[in-house]
Amino acid sequence: MNLETLAIQVTRFHDANASAVTTPIYLSTTYERDSEGNLPKGFLYARGNNPNRDLLEKSIAVLEGGAVGFAFGSGMAAIAALFQALKPGDHVITTPFAYYAAQRLLVDVFEPWGLEFTLVDTSSIEEVEKAIRPNTKLFWLETPSNPLLHLTDVAALARLAHSVGAMCAVDNTWATPVLQNPIALGADVVMHSTTKYFGGHSDVLGGALVLAQEGELSLKLRQIQNLTGGIPSPFDCWLITRGIQTMPLRVKTQSASALPIAQWLEQHPAVERVYYPGLESHAQHELAVSQMKNGFGGMLSFEVKGGLPGAKKVAGALKVFTQATSLGGVESLIEPRKIYEGPDSPTPDGLLRVSVGLEHTQDLINDLEQALAQA
Ligand code: PLP
Repeated sequence: MNLETLAIQVTRFHDANASAVTTPIYLSTTYERDSEGNLPKGFLYARGNNPNRDLLEKSIAVLEGGAVGFAFGSGMAAIAALFQALKPGDHVITTPFAYYAAQRLLVDVFEPWGLEFTLVDTSSIEEVEKAIRPNTKLFWLETPSNPLLHLTDVAALARLAHSVGAMCAVDNTWATPVLQNPIALGADVVMHSTTKYFGGHSDVLGGALVLAQEGELSLKLRQIQNLTGGIPSPFDCWLITRGIQTMPLRVKTQSASALPIAQWLEQHPAVERVYYPGLESHAQHELAVSQMKNGFGGMLSFEVKGGLPGAKKVAGALKVFTQATSLGGVESLIEPRKIYEGPDSPTPDGLLRVSVGLEHTQDLINDLEQALAQA
């Protein structure tokens, strides 16, 4: 079955009560036992599970080609659950180019808790090999990365991780299963901030983990999810499940729009550099072609001449784009990233991160043209 069909088939179930076509929202926090004390539908208490979360978890697992899914109240809660499933003394290899809050989580929360980690450029297999320690248990990858669109060869690093008894996990938020399936490339774990393309309308926070196989880790994650309670509400699950139904169409359209925008920006005299894996000038374009499908994503970044003041000026002059953080919604967003990531981040001062929405491509280019003319 094709992804568009799958996205609609897996996100609905038959409502035995009213035959509603759209899945109902189950607000109940608790579920009735039968006269024998059994739970007829398997639901006990909503921190453990509920029908909307169950549907969402199964849907995401199917779309990613995994065995089991876990939904959380945010992308960060999903990442934290995975790190919590490790033991103090375990070692994680990750990249300085990953979403900056994932690194802050390691530095501020998990290092004091006893997790060790090394930051290496995961686009270099040799660098990753050098960083491996006897206690390395997890490669935490993000490809394309936020906001510099660095790529990592998932298949090669999954092989390397497995050769040393470690797991390979990929933050697939920017690509979505529409453009990239890390499990098919060999990864053990896929993570999503479902706040972004899954929800798709900038109105719900969520996160997810999908595992290639059930086993020790899935039991541990179910336990962490239930004991720490960082779960999404039934309504949030419902919104994200609904978002999935249009995600293949949205992501393909946003990708198809991002490429000509990136190409247009690349030839503009006020633009220093464009970061987009669909451009032939991108250092890892060939890897993008082999590892991604259906396009290269709706996210791109570009550096304007004039550093941070220049970037701020352009962002402030745009009329169709909204200057705001986050990404993956129907509306185009832009923001100068360095301000939010702090002085330690490798992001250049003049970098603007763009989330291409569903507006007409030409209207977005026209808006960029008038704003860059003022830079
Ligand atoms: N991973 C990536 C690549 C992100 O871009 C983000 C948020 O921007 C997150 C994780 C964190 O997700 P959330 O904001 O849902 O906690």
